[in-house]
Amino acid sequence: MYSDELKEELELFRQNVCRFVETEIEPHYVQWEKDEIIPRELWNRMGDQGLLAVDIPEEYGGIGANFLFSMVIMEETFRANFAGIGGSVAVHSDVVCPYILHHGTEEQKQRYLPNMVTGECVGAVAMTEPGAGSDLQGIRTTARRDGNDYLINGSKTFITNGQHCDVVAVVARTTMDVPGSRGITLFLVDADTPGFQRGRNLEKIGLHPSDTSELFFEDVRVPMSAILGELDRGFAILMNELQRERLMVSVTAVAAAEGMIEQTVAYVKERKAFGAPIATLQNTRFKMAEAATDARIHRSFIEECARLLMRGELDAATASMAKMSCTEMQGRVADTCLQLHGGYGYMKEYGISRAYVDARVQRIYAGTTEIMKELISRELLK
Ligand SMILES: Cc1cc2nc3c(=O)[nH]c(=O)nc-3n(C[C@H](O)[C@H](O)[C@H](O)COP(=O)(O)OP(=O)(O)OC[C@H]3O[C@@H](n4cnc5c(N)ncnc54)[C@H](O)[C@@H]3O)c2cc1C
Repeated sequence: MYSDELKEELELFRQNVCRFVETEIEPHYVQWEKDEIIPRELWNRMGDQGLLAVDIPEEYGGIGANFLFSMVIMEETFRANFAGIGGSVAVHSDVVCPYILHHGTEEQKQRYLPNMVTGECVGAVAMTEPGAGSDLQGIRTTARRDGNDYLINGSKTFITNGQHCDVVAVVARTTMDVPGSRGITLFLVDADTPGFQRGRNLEKIGLHPSDTSELFFEDVRVPMSAILGELDRGFAILMNELQRERLMVSVTAVAAAEGMIEQTVAYVKERKAFGAPIATLQNTRFKMAEAATDARIHRSFIEECARLLMRGELDAATASMAKMSCTEMQGRVADTCLQLHGGYGYMKEYGISRAYVDARVQRIYAGTTEIMKELISRELLK
């Protein structure tokens, strides 16, 4: 499928990522879970090691790698059960950076991308509001013209990297008297702009090291040059870029499932019941066979989707199928693997308990399973 040279490069890169995960993440992760946030310097360390926004072209400070390299970073953090870091990095590298690269002005690209590659600037995207999540068209945050500037007012919630972010891609309504998706614009707002305020770091049931926050905007004055893409055309940008975001969630779901299966294979070979390892029980063998098959089928699908994305051919329905099916599969695998751990699976000491809890949100963010079904059926039945 890929040339030998590319395979070799990917393998070397994978080894680098695994080394970083083992030395820079694993020893500290439990503490970061307790802190409910990672130290800000981790972003810089990832940048130093070339692990942020790897597909940004060299002219903007990146290495211009293809999407497969970005996939490797996500795969190895999720396979190793560090979703609380992978998720934050995905928002920065696989959501905000591509928005700026594909839709930013030359000035915006020069200003943000090199610093996002090094980790000096952390990105967040603020779509969701207390009253509008799935129904993004119902957002109430406004950006009203005031002379040559815009004044942004409103509040956002559930924003990944909300505590650490230096720049936020904010979705706001710019034209009030048009219905639905029209009249929505994206703005790049620097976190030190007066009137911008971070709310508390929200307490979640999982993904503890990933900071998730409310954000408040009170007369936040931004120049016209802060508009990302075209005025009133923000919804179209979001719809275009969501394919990559959904594929990346699918990739992480498959890698997390593979990681859980590896952990569980080791466990069931060790753990004895009725005088023999539980791996000898037919139920265990069949459940593991089903889980491994489930993961393998989905791996083929995400690899096909990655090829489509790189050719610019990944459509909304296919990306939604991947997002829905891979994350539902991750949930099934998490449940099976935890069950096979018995009571130990419910203990924090065992990684499967974290993998189980962290898996749950994958069916919710980046569009819920139900919204994915809407998108797929809309295309199917049009
Ligand atoms: C940990 C975490 C991180 C997040 N990070 C970000 C971020 O960085 N930036 C950001 O903008 N947002 C972020 N989100 C928000 C996330 O994208 C939303 O939570 C998600 O889109 C769902 O919106 P909601 O929570 O308002 O649920 P709702 O939209 O209120 O949905 C509630 C239920 O109703 C169902 N439902 C809604 N509409 C329909 C329909 N038409 N048909 C059938 N069922 C429907 C949903 O599927 C769901 O089951 C994050 C959320 C979490 C939990």
